[in-house]
Formats: sequence, structure tokens, C-alpha cells
Amino acid sequence: MTVSLTFKETMAGHFALGATDPTAGEKLGKESGFNLTMHAEVSLVDLDKFLADPLHLGGLSGTIDFPPMGTNMVAHSGVFNLFKPADDPNLTYMIYELGFQHGGQDYYLAGHKDVRDDPGFDLWSDTTTLYTTLHQGKDKTGPVIGAGILTLGVMQLLDLLSTVKTPGADGIQGKVAAIAKFGSFFAGKLWDSYVVSKFGKFLYDKLSDDSFDYDVLVIGSGFGGAVTACRLAEKGMKVCILERGRRWEVKDYPRDPKDAWWWSNENPAEHNGWIDIRSYPNMAVAQCSGVGGGSLIYANIFVEAKPFSFESGWPKEITYEALQPYYEKTGQMLNVQAVPDNQLPPKTKLMKEAAEQIGEGHRFLKMPLAVSFDPDFSYNREDAFEDKHSKPFINAFGQQQGTCVHCGNCDIGCQVKARNTLDLNYIPLAEQHGAVVKPLHLVSRITPLHNGVGYRVDFDRIDVEGKALIAGHLNAKKVIVAAGTMGSNELLLRCRDEYGSLPNLSPMLGVGWSSNGDFLTPAVYKRCDIDPTRGPTITCSIDYLDGSFEGQRFWVQDGGIPNLLKDAIGGLGQDHSFGHFFTSLNSLVKNDTPLSSVMPWFGQAVDASNGVFKLTRSWMPPFRHEVKLEWDIEKSKAAVQALIDMHIKLSEATGGEPMVPPTWTVLKNLVTPHPLGGCHMGESSADGVVDHKGEVFGYPGLYVADGSIIPKAVGLNPSRTIAALAERIAELIEP
Ligand SMILES: Cc1cc2nc3c(=O)[nH]c(=O)nc-3n(C[C@H](O)[C@H](O)[C@H](O)COP(=O)(O)OP(=O)(O)OC[C@H]3O[C@@H](n4cnc5c(N)ncnc54)[C@H](O)[C@@H]3O)c2cc1C
Ligand code: SF4
Repeated sequence: MTVSLTFKETMAGHFALGATDPTAGEKLGKESGFNLTMHAEVSLVDLDKFLADPLHLGGLSGTIDFPPMGTNMVAHSGVFNLFKPADDPNLTYMIYELGFQHGGQDYYLAGHKDVRDDPGFDLWSDTTTLYTTLHQGKDKTGPVIGAGILTLGVMQLLDLLSTVKTPGADGIQGKVAAIAKFGSFFAGKLWDSYVVSKFGKFLYDKLSDDSFDYDVLVIGSGFGGAVTACRLAEKGMKVCILERGRRWEVKDYPRDPKDAWWWSNENPAEHNGWIDIRSYPNMAVAQCSGVGGGSLIYANIFVEAKPFSFESGWPKEITYEALQPYYEKTGQMLNVQAVPDNQLPPKTKLMKEAAEQIGEGHRFLKMPLAVSFDPDFSYNREDAFEDKHSKPFINAFGQQQGTCVHCGNCDIGCQVKARNTLDLNYIPLAEQHGAVVKPLHLVSRITPLHNGVGYRVDFDRIDVEGKALIAGHLNAKKVIVAAGTMGSNELLLRCRDEYGSLPNLSPMLGVGWSSNGDFLTPAVYKRCDIDPTRGPTITCSIDYLDGSFEGQRFWVQDGGIPNLLKDAIGGLGQDHSFGHFFTSLNSLVKNDTPLSSVMPWFGQAVDASNGVFKLTRSWMPPFRHEVKLEWDIEKSKAAVQALIDMHIKLSEATGGEPMVPPTWTVLKNLVTPHPLGGCHMGESSADGVVDHKGEVFGYPGLYVADGSIIPKAVGLNPSRTIAALAERIAELIEP
């Protein structure tokens, strides 16, 4: 249904007949004591159309009071035009024009507000100051007979808010959504920082209620969200998971270039697929979107962090020993196991051979994997990798799974369900205890409720078929933010700095972001039996986390490339703006290097964890707030270089030709699938965002439970540490 929006706006100020320039007219009007008041009613018949139309033209009607001529002079025509471009590229206009008659004569009152791209916070004056001229005649081509400056004061703004009507909107939620949509467009930072933070309570008092829909709302369903939702539901709490991504089924996994590969934060109604890749200066971050979060895309490595990781930077309660029982629980839930020795993929054997060749065979470790293996699987069967060899079974949570056939597709979804992903264990267990999962619910805001207990969570439901976003909200006593490192940082930064709904969040929010030092170096071999498209994506490590090589802590892993992704790479590179992400793989494929002769040496390193996430504002309409990552490689360079040097050493020791990509040698660009930090645990809000229980300083009942609470790089795959922390957080939450 078409939603309209109308509001009344009263602007008043000094005005003088005889003046032709607004500033001079204001001065003259002040001296002579004359004021002009415009009582305008703006009407946007189709709000979505108005916002989408680059001209942003609406209707204006109203009355004018100007005692020298008369009061309550009714306008017979009017123009409202938001953000009309001006000759100056740093300037846009808001146009308010009313035509009226007085004494049988036509007059035209023409006002414009200048919205300038100035540094500093001057939007309030920009958008509340109307430079006005009065023309004789039916439009502004007539001679100017008066001028002045009208303004909208704070009290008038309150009046404006109370006059907003949204015909066609669906109930209170629809009304709030329509107002918010127009408000953010109309006033950008002014709306978010000033109106909502100062008058949000006033708005919501009128428009919402405080009753609870759930005991707990969990935002996100990855390692933090699935674990906390499950354990809190087991305690008897009424839990709802709000997850932005789809509930993926095997038949929907992306395979073809035209499938739903991409998630776009800018346009989730259109792009709500598997991978979310964010690009920042010198850093790209990959994450998954869907029920099960990163477990859907991850390479199944479910490993504990090393004791050194807990030696500093954590609250005193979090130690390696304290996390042991939780590590234990998570390993049982995901039924971790190593690749059986009778079915080691060729790349695993190459890793072992390489470690031995450099005299460090003791550092080679098979990894704990969240994968179900069949002890009878054999690489020697003719059609070994076909799905028909997967043995079906029902897991401990009543879910149908199958055993691994080493097809290598882990990162793009396992079609035989051999991977023990969260949608097959923690999430069904949560549902068996009454938890409700709402996929395609993108959370945008958290606001404390008025009585001081509980929170309101606003979201957009994604209508995939209709390619639309439908606003809604739910209230709960407790909220667990588990939107992943990128999602939780962004959500909380917006709540603090854009909407002002959580203004007292720690100044440490966004500080201490880490890429976990990930790097991939492909090496080309003369032999063609490496085949990184076979076997689980990662299977083993060569452990240098003791800092014995170049004084840096890191570990090396075997990378894998899904066979199907290999076929799709070319198409993805051409068809999508994110295609540059695949550039180095694409160039190998294009050069006809057979993938069977490529070893993707992978690994992580303990970087400096000194990234800073920030929210900045565009100075041009519609004044969007954008997340920026300030990332300085300088302090992390040595750790990443040590990992690369080891890749080179291992390649050369086994007859491979390492190809360190120019994205590192020249540009020092990194890509990480393991972002951490930004909402890290601390002793107080002076040094952290949450305490050791995951509870946000200053906001009782609001928790963060995901990779963002980890204060520094762990230098290895982090999902088990995230899950263990989430187990502990859930255990300490009282029903
Ligand atoms: C290709 C790849 C391979 C990986 N391999 C491994 C591995 O082998 N081992 C390992 O330990 N780690 C691996 N990782 C990293 C691992 O996936 C993450 O560390 C882990 O998933 C983080 O858990 P989390 O709970 O912090 O967030 P996530 O698991 O990312 O979960 C966050 C969830 O929140 C949702 N969300 C985000 N914003 C919102 C919002 N506003 N509203 C509602 N929902 C929202 C997301 O869609 C997501 O489902 C890999 C990552 C990638 C990309
Ligand atoms: S290799 Fe990965 S995707 Fe293929 S069957 Fe095994 S677990 Fe599943």
C-alpha cells in the first residue's frame, strides 16, 4: 500500500517590505519590529516515490501572517523541493514556495534553505534557516518587494514532530518506520543525532509500548548467537533469534554465478546471499549471512586458542584454564574429529612433507574439524567424491546428516551435510526448547525501554520475493548482540553515534579491531597431485605460535578451493562488483594453471590488533553514516611477513614456486575471514565495552557475545573461542 507523509511546519522571522536581500530584510525587519510567519503543510503523497525521485518534489500548502499585509493569508499553490542541486557543488537547496492573493493582487513567497557541505556540525542552522523573498506576481519572476530570514526553533520542531501523519502506514510500527525513513533523509545527522537522541523518547512515548515479546532477543545466529540462544532456551527463557540472512537449505546453496552469492549491506532487499564482503582501505573482510552464521561458510576448524592468548588484555576472570570446561562443551556439541589417517587429502600430505623437509615435522598437527567422517571412505575409489558415497545418519539433535566425501565444497555449503554446522546442532536444540528463529530480519537499532528494564529492537524484515524491506520491532528483557565482529560494531556504533539510542556506550567501542593476521600464498608445483579442490577446506597446521620464527607468532594451514567455486570464479569476477576479491585466483585460472598443481598456503598471525572502527557521515544528502575502518599495517607487517616467509620456505622445500601476490608486495592489502575485537571485554568502560560476563557497561541486560569481544588476535581460527566465551556468558545469565 502507498504510504503518504504529511507534516506541518511553522517558520517565523524578521521581514521587511522594501528589502530585496534576505539578510538586509531581516536586519530591517528587526529594527522596524515586523515578523513574517509561514504556517506550511508539506505533503508527500507517495513517500517511497518521493525519496526515490531525484527531484524530491512534494506539495506545500498553508497560510502566511505578515501584519503589514494581513494575517491568515491562504496560499493557493505551493512547491516543496528537498535537496535541489545548486550551482555550487557543495551546496543544495530546500525549497519552500507559496503563492497567495492579498487585496486582489498575486504574491509569491519564495524561500530556500541552504544545505552546505561544510566541515563541522552546522546542519541544525542549515536546515532551519529559510532565506525568503516576497515577489509581486504569480511566481518568483516577479519583482522582489520584501525579504527576510525565517527559522524553525526547537519548540516548533517539537510541534512539527507531533503533526506528522502517515496515511497508508500499517499501524504504529509502519508509522514509526515511515517517520524514521523520511527523518533520516530529511535531516541526516540532524535527525539521528539531534532529533532522535533528544526527542526520541518523546516520539516513542507516543508511538510504542513497553510490553515484552520475549525474555531474550538474540541478534545473529553464528557462534555467539546460536550458543547463547540454545543455552538460554534450555534454561526456560523465551528466546527469539533475529538473523539477517536466509535459512539456507541444500537446494539453495550458491553454485552457479547467477545464484544468491552476495550480501549487500547497502541493498539487502536485492542482495541477501551467502557472502558479505566489505572493503576498506588496505583490508577486505569476508563473512557469511544465514542461520548458522560463520559456521555455514567456515572451513570447519574448531580449535582452542593457546594459553599465551589469555596472558594479557582480558578481564582477570577470563583465563585459559577458566575457558576449558566451555571449550570441552563446544567440542562435544560440534562433534569434532580429525581427518582419519586412511583418507588424508594430498594437500595434507604436502603440509606434513613440508614440515619434515625443513626439519620441523613435530610442528605438524591434524586439526579438530566439525565434520563427520566415514572410516571406510577411500580416495582410491574411482568416483570417490560423488555424493552417493556419503552415508546418511541422524545426529544427536535429531537432524539428518551424511558423512564426508571430500568434495572440497565446505565454504559454499556441504550438499551431503557432513559438516556439523550450527543449524544442525545448537540451533535445533534451541528450537526444541522453544526458541523462535526469524531469518531475514536485519536489526538496525536497540533502544532502552522507558521503564528502565529491557530493550526495544528495531529491524527490517527482508521480503526476498518482493525485494522490499518491511520495518518492525520487538521488545525483550534482555538482548544479546551476536551479529559478528563487523555487525555488532556497526550496530552499536550506529546506536551510539547515529541514533543516540545507546549514548553511554564506552568510548572504547570500535577500538582494538584485529584481522587476526590472515594470509594466503598460492604456490605452483610441477606435480599435479596436490589438488586443493579435494578434501575438507582446511585439515592441518604447522604451529609457529611459540614465536620461534622471526620472533613472530603464527601458524600455517593448508587452504582449499571448492571445485564448484573454481568453475564460477570467472563469472563472479565479471558479473559482480565484488569480483576483484577473486582477482588472484582468477588470474591463475586464466593462465591455465591447473588447480591440481596449486597449493594455497594459508595461515594466521598475531597482528597488532590496532584497527579502529568508526562511523563517519557523508556531508551530502542523504547524509548517510558510513562505517570506516582505520587500519595501519605498520605494526602488523612483521607478523604477516613472517607467515609469508614461512609459506615461501615450505613451498621451496617441496619444489613449489610461491607466488606472493602484489596485493601484499606492493599494496600491503589483506583479506580476512577472521575479524575480531572492537567491543572487547574489559574491567570497566574505560578499557572495554563489555565485562567478563559479556554485559555492556552501563546497560544492564544488554550483552555482546561474538568475535567482537575478543580483545586481540589469537593467531589461529577463532570460532571455538567465540563459542566457548558464549557458553560462559549464557551460563552466567540468570533467567
Ligand atoms: C571463508 C571463511 C572460512 C572460515 N573458516 C574458519 C575456520 O575454519 N575456523 C574458524 O574458527 N573460523 C573460521 N572462519 C571465521 C568464523 O566464521 C568466524 O570467526 C565466526 O563465524 C565468528 O562468529 P561470530 O558469532 O562472531 O559471528 P558470525 O558467525 O559471523 O555470526 C554473526 C551472524 O549475525 C548476522 N548478522 C550480522 N548483522 C546482523 C544484523 N544487523 N541483524 C541480524 N543479524 C545480523 C550474520 O548474518 C551472521 O549470521 C571462517 C570465515 C570465513 C569467511
Ligand atoms: S569436503 Fe566439505 S563439503 Fe565436501 S563432503 Fe566433506 S565436509 Fe562436505
